Amino acid sequence: MKKSTLLLGAHFSISGGLHEALLEAKKYGCNALQMFTKNSRTWKERAVSEEEIELFKKTRQKTGIKCIASHTSYLINLAAPDSEKHLLSCRALEQELIRSSALNIDFVVLHPGSLMGDGEKKGIDRISKSINDIFKRIPEISTRLLLETTAGQGTGTGHTFEQLHKMIEKINRKENIGVCLDTSHIFAAGYDIRDKFSYHRAIEEFDKITGLDRLFLIHLNDSKKCLGSRVDRHEHIGKGEIGIDAFRLIMNDRRLAAIPKIIETPKAEGGKDWDRINLRKLKLMI
Ligand SMILES: [Zn+2]
Repeated sequence: MKKSTLLLGAHFSISGGLHEALLEAKKYGCNALQMFTKNSRTWKERAVSEEEIELFKKTRQKTGIKCIASHTSYLINLAAPDSEKHLLSCRALEQELIRSSALNIDFVVLHPGSLMGDGEKKGIDRISKSINDIFKRIPEISTRLLLETTAGQGTGTGHTFEQLHKMIEKINRKENIGVCLDTSHIFAAGYDIRDKFSYHRAIEEFDKITGLDRLFLIHLNDSKKCLGSRVDRHEHIGKGEIGIDAFRLIMNDRRLAAIPKIIETPKAEGGKDWDRINLRKLKLMI
C-alpha cells in the first residue's frame, strides 16, 4: 500500500477562528481533520460570514487539507421524546448541515441519539424521520451526514451495526448519509477487535449488516474501558484495553485504505504533545 493514499488527522480546536483548525492540522502534518463549527456545549447557534467562508476555503487550499469532518454538538438528540428538546435538536442539526455545506466540509458526524425511556424501534424511527424532515428543508447541501457508531452509554442508540442499518434504510437521501466507525465505541459496545481473528470478524459483520460502502470516516481511539462496558472513554493509541494490534490491522487493511482516519485521543497529559505521538505511531504502522 502506498503511503500517499493515507488520509490521517485529529480533532483540532477552532479557538481563534474556524480556519485555525486547518492551520493546526497542517502543523501536525495532517491532510485530514475534524473540528467543531460552533461551541459544541451550547444550543447557541452561529452563522458563518462570507469573510469566514472565504478565509476558510483559502486556508484549505493553502494547507492542502483533503478531508474535513465537523462534529455536531453533544446536546443534539434526534431520538428525544421531549418535543422541545427534539425541536432544538433538529434545528441545531439543520444549522450544522447548512454551515458545514457553506464551508465545503465533507462530513458532519452525529451521535444518532438517546432513547430516554422510549423503545428502540420508536427511537430509531424518530431519528430517521427527523433526518428525512431536515433533508427536505435543505435540498441543496453538499455535505454528508455520518451516523457514528456509539458505545451505547446510558440509553444511547447506534451501538449495534443492526441499529445503524435500520436508521439508514429509512433515510431517503442516501447520497447525503453514511457511517463513521469509532474503534473505542464499537469495542465498548461489545465488538472485539483486539486480535486478527476478532478484528476481521467485526469488520466482516459491519460489512454484512451496515455495509463498508456506507463507511466514510473512522475515528481511531483506544478505550480506557473494557470490552462491552458500554462506557465511552478514549485512550491513547495502543495504551488502552484495545491495544496496539487492532490499530496495526486497521492501518494496513486495504478495504479501509481510502477512508479518512481521525484520532480523538486526549491531547495534553503530562506535558506531552500526545497528538504528535499518536499520529506518528499510526503512520509508522503502515
Ligand atoms: Zn468518535
